Amino acid sequence: MSSITDFANFQLGLLGWPLGHSLSPRLHQAALQACRLSGEYQLYPVQNAGQLKPYLMQVRCGKLDGLNVTIPYKQAVLPLLDDLTPTARAVGAVNTLYRSGSQVVGDNTDVPGFLADLQRIGPASGGAALVLGAGGAARAVVYALSRAGWQVTVAARRVEQAQALADNLRPFAGAVSALPLEKDALTFDFQLLVNATPVGMHPHTQANPWPEGAPLLANCFVYDLVYNPAQTMLLQQAPAGSNGLGMLIEQAALAFELWTGRNVPRQALWEAL
Ligand code: NAP
Repeated sequence: MSSITDFANFQLGLLGWPLGHSLSPRLHQAALQACRLSGEYQLYPVQNAGQLKPYLMQVRCGKLDGLNVTIPYKQAVLPLLDDLTPTARAVGAVNTLYRSGSQVVGDNTDVPGFLADLQRIGPASGGAALVLGAGGAARAVVYALSRAGWQVTVAARRVEQAQALADNLRPFAGAVSALPLEKDALTFDFQLLVNATPVGMHPHTQANPWPEGAPLLANCFVYDLVYNPAQTMLLQQAPAGSNGLGMLIEQAALAFELWTGRNVPRQALWEAL
């Protein structure tokens, strides 16, 4: 039996700046192909937030079927949206926009995307987790981990940023501790370490977010959101771990499902990368 999506020509894309090295077009073209749908996924480089509105109008009126949003607009786009999912509201940032009736709704698929990949590859929930960084991705990760039953500590080089994250998420995620990202503050036991800073990312591949002189990472699983390079300095010193490629794939697949109603075979996305 055929459905309406079989005949649709999906117009999808990504808002952000700069967008030169984005893997999203490759992922979503592969998703369209795997689901035997027609359409395209285009990059929309937007130089300043004042230029976002026309794209949202296109989603609202049906010219575009869905958009991803990346740095630096994950928060800046919020005032332009008609509604937010509870997850996006709690995290205070969106990465996916879709149409519902005549409304543009913002969601955050980084949250379930991170959790799905961690559950695929990481340790069982319930222990202590330490998250490095307190920016947009850290907010999604801290929220996801807290909701999944981890006791979360967030450490940032500006401790006031970590404290603000903990305070903002408390109504949605319960107690989160905040620490400075300094060797003397990181001497407690944790079963999971998540790097949510860009430290170690190409081209600065020799950089490491784990402070020099901090205790060795002996008994924990390390999840590094960075995926380029595949083996960051941080992952090289971890007894077990994973980079963030699986999260990238999961958040893309979940966005694609919101736009098309189709569950993408993950294998097709892994092969596309
Ligand atoms: P962001 O909002 O800019 O936040 C970055 C955080 O890292 C901030 O707390 C920042 O502190 C901190 N930081 C930056 N440089 C640092 C340094 N040298 N030492 C210590 N802390 C530092 O960025 P984001 O959106 O959260 O993204 C963070 C990383 O996650 C990026 O590499 C991004 O590509 C990756 N990411 C991956 C996925 C995935 O699917 N795998 C999804 C989302 C994000 P300051 O504010 O003090 O600079």
